[in-house]
This record gives sequence, C-alpha cells and structure tokens, in this order.
Amino acid sequence: MRYNNLHGYFLYLNGGFYMEENKKLVTILVPAYNEQDVLNMLYDRLKNIMDNLTNYDFEVLLVNDGSKDDTLKIMKNLRAVDSRICYLNLSRNYGKETAMIAGLDYAKGDCVIIIDADLQDPPELIPDMLKFWEEGYDDVYAKRKSRKGESVLKKFTSKMYYKVLQSVTNIEIQKDTGDFRLLDRRCVEALKSIRESQRYTKGLFSWIGYNKKEILFDRDPRAAGNTKWNYGKLINLSIDGLTSFTTAPLRLSAFIGILVSLAGFIYMLAIIFKTIFNGIDVPGYSSTMVVILFLGGIQLIFLGVIGEYLGRTFNESKGRPIYFVDRYNDEKETNEKLNK
Ligand code: UDP
Ligand code: MG
Repeated sequence: MRYNNLHGYFLYLNGGFYMEENKKLVTILVPAYNEQDVLNMLYDRLKNIMDNLTNYDFEVLLVNDGSKDDTLKIMKNLRAVDSRICYLNLSRNYGKETAMIAGLDYAKGDCVIIIDADLQDPPELIPDMLKFWEEGYDDVYAKRKSRKGESVLKKFTSKMYYKVLQSVTNIEIQKDTGDFRLLDRRCVEALKSIRESQRYTKGLFSWIGYNKKEILFDRDPRAAGNTKWNYGKLINLSIDGLTSFTTAPLRLSAFIGILVSLAGFIYMLAIIFKTIFNGIDVPGYSSTMVVILFLGGIQLIFLGVIGEYLGRTFNESKGRPIYFVDRYNDEKETNEKLNK
C-alpha cells in the first residue's frame, strides 16, 4: 500500500498499537519491440516470481517501443488481468536504449529491474538480486557465464570490442554484461539526469558509479521471435559506445598526424640533399603517388573521425526531448513533463 512514489508507508491500528507496514515497491522494466510471441510467457514467469516474494509490492512496466505487431494489444490484455502491470506506449520505435530511459522516467519503484522481453534473462534471478539490494548494493548486474544460441562470430566480435573499449576509456566497462540488472532508486535518478540523445547505457551504468555487485548466470537462447539486432545496428552501437565515452580517437589522429608529418619532413630533407648533390632527377612518379595516396587516405579517415564527434555535438546541441510518449496505461500523454 503506497502513498507516494518513494517511501510509501501505511499506518494502521493493530490491537491499540500503531504498526508500520513498509513494503518496498519493485519495478520490473521490460523494453519490448515486436515481442508478441513471448510476452505471455514472460508474464507467467514473472507472475510466479512476484507471487512468491510477498515482502515486496511489484510493478511491471512494459515499454512498447513502437512495435508493428500485436505487442501493445497483449500489454493491454495483461493489464486488464493484473493491476500490477503498467504499460508505456512510445510514439514510434526509438531503439532499446531510448525505451529503457523512457521506462526509467516512468518507473515508480524503490528499485528498478531491467529485463529483456525475450526471456534470455531468467527472471528467476530476481530474488537473488533483491537479496543483494537489501544488503546495500545499488547496482546488482547479471554477468553471462555462457551465451547459448549466439554465433561464434558474434561472441568473438563482442569480446574484441569490449577489449578495445576498455583500453581507451578510464571507467571500467563490465564484460559480458547486458542490461539485465537491479538499480537502486539513486542509480535510477542518476541515469535519468543524463539526457544524452545517443545513449550508450552500458557505459552509463559504469559511469554513474555506486556500489556494484555481480551475479553470474547462463544466458538462455531467445524463447521465441527474432533478435532485433543485426551487424549494422551493432556497429552503430559500438561507435556510439566509443565516441560517447572517449575522445581517444581524436587524440590518436593527432598523434598519427605528428608521426606522419615527421616522416614527411625527414623525406623532404632527403630529397633536398639528394637534389643538391646528385642534381635534379625527373623520375619519382611512384614515390610521389604513394605519398599523395597515403596522406590523402589518412586525412580522409581523420576527417571522418572528427566528423563523428562533430555529428554527436550537433545532435546533442539540438536539445530535443529524447522520446515522445503516446500513452501511459490507458491515458493519452501530452508530453509536457518531457521538455525538461
Ligand atoms: N528492443 C527494443 N527496441 C528495439 C530493439 C529491441 O525495445 O528497437 C528490446 C527487445 O524487445 C528485447 C530487448 O530490447 O526485449 C533485447 O533485444 P533483442 O533480444 O532483439 O537483442 P539481443 O538479445 O539479441 O541482443
Ligand atoms: Mg534477446
């Protein structure tokens, strides 16, 4: 029973004494895009867990990220049978990163557990997460021991990417960790205060700090439906990850620029001396072409690197709200409060 969002409590008379009932509210946040095949299965698994944890109140916040199938309809049906279910319908598909921040904005719980809709993250880990939360941890994240149903290539590229990312950033990025985690209210508030439009939430979790605790689990294959990721999207997310957490590529371009111009200078001296002592020699077409092509290539690459950062700055400087909401539960949203 709750009176306000954060620390609702209810006093009632019990045999002449005032007793305090202080159940904490746990929000389970589920971003979903075209997940009609799994939502009911997910609900059954979650219901099981929620019914067993009687010490807590639960809110399941389903975020419909502009699905093109019957996901929204299923969400509405679920809400009709279970009042613990809330849903948020975004105005279009924004991607998982944005769906998550939208969910965090609307979550009411004292803690929020983010979980994928496709049951790759087993809800059975939730009691363990809550146990660590009660022990005082703010961010209990689930680390994959294994990744069933993922290709060797995906595993390899993801491993390499984390290596590169870790070596160029100062903050510690957790390996083999997705977005499946429990966040205390203060982590949620911290994440909400970061209003970047090109979000890389995996990095933000580390960036905000606080007390972290890792638990290990075996990641299951998707229960049904298809993955929404393809290599194009993954590459984009990787570039977002790099450029939002480090300016190392800019510095690298400067260093390589210095090295190349130093080499060019030495080569120039060599040519001058050669001309003075050996006279003018006309052949030299191949060396000229090599230098022109090499330098031209390097310049284009680094223009691209600079452009990447400039583009990010451009996008952030527009200061647009990150998302718009169509409805929260059954009510139409006016989006007034989003224009912070
Ligand atoms: N998702 C989303 N918006 C998107 C793409 C994905 O909300 O544009 C959700 C999706 O419904 C799922 C979670 O993000 O709950 C993870 O997506 P998916 O399972 O496709 O990714 P994978 O597990 O293959 O990395
Ligand atoms: Mg998945």
